[in-house]
Amino acid sequence: MNAPQRTPKLIKGATGDWEVVIGMEVHAQVSSRAKLFSGASTEFGGDPNDHVSLVDAAMPGMLPVINEECVRQAVRTGLALRAQINLRSVFDRKNYFYPDLPQGYQISQYKHPIVGEGSLTIDLEDGSQVEVGIERLHLEQDAGKSLHDQHPSMSYVDLNRSGVALMEIVSRPDLRSAEEAKAYMTRLRSILRYIGACDGDMEKGSLRADVNVSVRRPGEPFGTRCEIKNVNSIRFIGQAIEYEARRQIAILEDGGVVDQETRLFDAARGETRSMRSKEEAHDYRYFPDPDLLPLVISREMVDEIAASLPELPDAKKARFMKELGLPAYDAGILVADRETADYFEAALGHGGGGRDAKAVANWIMGDVSAYANAIGRPVHQTCVKPEHVAGIVDLIAGGVISGKIAKDVLAIIIEEGGGDPRQIVESRGMKQVTDTAAIEKAVDEVIAANPDKVAQAQAKPTLAGWFVGQVMKATGGKANPQVVNALVKARLGL
Ligand code: ADP
Ligand code: MG
Repeated sequence: MNAPQRTPKLIKGATGDWEVVIGMEVHAQVSSRAKLFSGASTEFGGDPNDHVSLVDAAMPGMLPVINEECVRQAVRTGLALRAQINLRSVFDRKNYFYPDLPQGYQISQYKHPIVGEGSLTIDLEDGSQVEVGIERLHLEQDAGKSLHDQHPSMSYVDLNRSGVALMEIVSRPDLRSAEEAKAYMTRLRSILRYIGACDGDMEKGSLRADVNVSVRRPGEPFGTRCEIKNVNSIRFIGQAIEYEARRQIAILEDGGVVDQETRLFDAARGETRSMRSKEEAHDYRYFPDPDLLPLVISREMVDEIAASLPELPDAKKARFMKELGLPAYDAGILVADRETADYFEAALGHGGGGRDAKAVANWIMGDVSAYANAIGRPVHQTCVKPEHVAGIVDLIAGGVISGKIAKDVLAIIIEEGGGDPRQIVESRGMKQVTDTAAIEKAVDEVIAANPDKVAQAQAKPTLAGWFVGQVMKATGGKANPQVVNALVKARLGL
């Protein structure tokens, strides 16, 4: 199914080419105020064991009660991943012992997840697209946290995260390079944020990936995979895959076999290392949780959620390209997060609209983004508002200022934390001079003062640019560059 339609990026080994095969299991913390089966808060931070109910602490006889909001978030995500929504799903106990797992099992979904098969489209740098299959999405509880560095001879347990709802989103092994895996994670995070199902904050652990990697000769069956656990940044996903693929290729080229095992990525060393082998793998003895009835949701609820979904990045990108004529690259950047897309549309439509989409996109992706990056904030959280971008674009389009002066106007807005572009231009005499007589005068003066350059330019017309530069300088950058250019050429007889 879902055979990706692109030429995979092959890795050169000592004995020939290899193809890397990747499948991802992503854990996304569900955005909800309360935990999956208890009313305790999911708030990040707080003192250890501040957000723990009797259910989360697994006191005897406590019963889990499903949080409807978490179910809705899972359905929302499933719909955004074009997936099958299962109206009946089952919660199972996944049994294992861990000090920070007081129940002695995690409530998860095994054979009957709430969401079945779906897909997600990723955009690659060369402009091609790959459709990645989604195998399933299920709901489960997060575990607590053991703290080993608080006391010389004791470990502590913090149950604040115990019972927080996670969605595990499992992809098919459809990814064929580190770049594709990073693009997958980026797009998945973007979708989760668009729909508000997960904040996508990888630094806080709200989103983390188990990365399954194997290698094979092109065209051969899949090789044995290793699973790299809990990778918590998109950059690390790329590094872990590059390292792991090379490691497996080296083993195979040496005549060895890859052991199926769980590995950890050591970010400081840029390496993966063994955590446990398949032989040590747990037998979780899954069985349906007797404290919970099968989860049954109605078709009406699914339809209602479907109707409330926002426009998703794919659809938005297609619309920006088709209706606004933006190139795929620009549209892709603008839709990467919902706030930037909204910012762009607000600038484009400000005061009735009518401006050139490409010009608005250029300003946002260029100077405004550069400023936002410099101060480490997203574009929509800077003092440069959509109406400023709209105003600047209008002034250029109307021939009031040149692109160069527009940069000065933006600098003033940034410096002063705001301002009306038109007023800034008026009050500070930044208006472009299109008055031909004034420009002619400046051109004549520069020509008269530089007879030697005139001779040179007449011999080599590309040197006319020097005169244009001098005239722009003489007019404080306010002369209309097209007019200057035309006049210089006319006067030099070019
Ligand atoms: P298990 O049930 O043992 O966890 P799954 O078949 O559910 O295994 O696969 C888990 C993840 O591993 C999925 O994301 C899947 O795409 C990926 N995967 C499966 N086989 C391979 C392989 N040969 N190479 C890379 N990834 C794989
Ligand atoms: Mg699995």
